[in-house]
Amino acid sequence: MSGVNSYEIDMHTHTINSDGRNTPYEVIDIAAKSGIKILTFTDHSGITHSNDIVGYAKENGISIPFMGLEVSTIFEGNKYHVLGYGKNLRIDDLEDYLLYPTEVKNKRFIKIIEALRDIGIVLPSNEDIRKGIRPDGTFAHPDKWMLTRTLIATYVAQNLNISINEAKGIFSDSDDPKNRRIFIEESLPVHERYLPTTDVISYLAKKGAGVILAHPWWECGRGNTTERVKSDIFTFAELGLHGLECESYHLTQEMNNEIKDIFRQLPHFHRIGGSDFHGDRRSSFGQRGVTWEDYHAFSKVISI
Ligand SMILES: [Zn+2]
Ligand SMILES: [Zn+2]
Repeated sequence: MSGVNSYEIDMHTHTINSDGRNTPYEVIDIAAKSGIKILTFTDHSGITHSNDIVGYAKENGISIPFMGLEVSTIFEGNKYHVLGYGKNLRIDDLEDYLLYPTEVKNKRFIKIIEALRDIGIVLPSNEDIRKGIRPDGTFAHPDKWMLTRTLIATYVAQNLNISINEAKGIFSDSDDPKNRRIFIEESLPVHERYLPTTDVISYLAKKGAGVILAHPWWECGRGNTTERVKSDIFTFAELGLHGLECESYHLTQEMNNEIKDIFRQLPHFHRIGGSDFHGDRRSSFGQRGVTWEDYHAFSKVISI
């Protein structure tokens, strides 16, 4: 660490391949300016990784030692985000299995795209939308597997010459309904749209990946309690969970005390995570991250 709250390792970041606002190259630029030396992309249910990306990072003094991803899961009604790390996570059954929540979302977005076409909006093909086709015909993110509200709204905004926020209102289920012109319901109840947390943790652990619970207290205040999270963490630890993202923007003093107690009871646990960088108001590089000591210890548990 080069100072108080100034981390050189960030293992939780997002790009336009999920709900981040920046390309992987832009994220690398921003991370480099913030003094980051080790970086991992953890897009939602998809892997952002290529020789080009790793090479570009290297030119900027950053090492990307692992592929990473973040999986949306559910355990007894409570949502948990699980982070997985490995030198190679591009194993077919792993990607197919972990992409399930994304596939469910994509199916709904394809219905939305079709309904937008029905009301006269001109859109590229579904495949081209996934890849983020630009007006000049090149692709913004060739590995795209996730359709997002913002992405679709970008096309609608272009079509109708309105702002992206106004465009979202046309097909959103949460924005101002007075602008809404189409509505597509969620296709499945929430517990069927997510993978079971316990299955995802044991699956990743068995494959040899490093498995971390992201921002454990994120669901608190939305139905979950610190007490429940804490007891769930002990269940997850038995299934192979390697540790927690201890620093997150959801933390309160009470939760900090719980974390201390968890680490007292599970001394083998690792403190891994990061800024959860999205290119928005969430925390920026350097504020939250991983110490070199924790990083080296965690690297040793990863065998994939
Ligand atoms: Zn998350
Ligand atoms: Zn995240």
